[in-house]
Amino acid sequence: MAKECLCQANEIVVFPCSGGSNCGQIANQVAVDLTEDGVGTIFCLAGIGAHIPGMIESAKSAKRIVAIDGCSVECAKKTLEHAGLTITDYIDITKEGIAKTKNFKLSQQDILFVVKRTKQELAKER
Ligand code: SF4
Repeated sequence: MAKECLCQANEIVVFPCSGGSNCGQIANQVAVDLTEDGVGTIFCLAGIGAHIPGMIESAKSAKRIVAIDGCSVECAKKTLEHAGLTITDYIDITKEGIAKTKNFKLSQQDILFVVKRTKQELAKER
């Protein structure tokens, strides 16, 4: 069986850091919600970090590449840049005023706010 990733690129691909904090997991949930809303497609950041050639090429074919980091360590941003991808839209959740903690009972209000902020970024012409 061919080893293929199910996250095919489309016009807008979304890479959350999916890190081990509330903000990292908010990033992940925001990417899921944007996918379910039909705004973009969540994509595997780990596949990019692993330098899987087909996944990098697939991501490069997208019109917009969105990185959502939980905090200013910028793991998603740096992983994408290391693979030679150009980020068109960027969110750092702590810079949106949400404090990074180890409380994994995520606030739906925080998730909705970051979804809204990401949509605002995507509404801008690039
Ligand atoms: S950006 Fe911050 S929250 Fe996300 S994986 Fe890196 S250290 Fe963790």
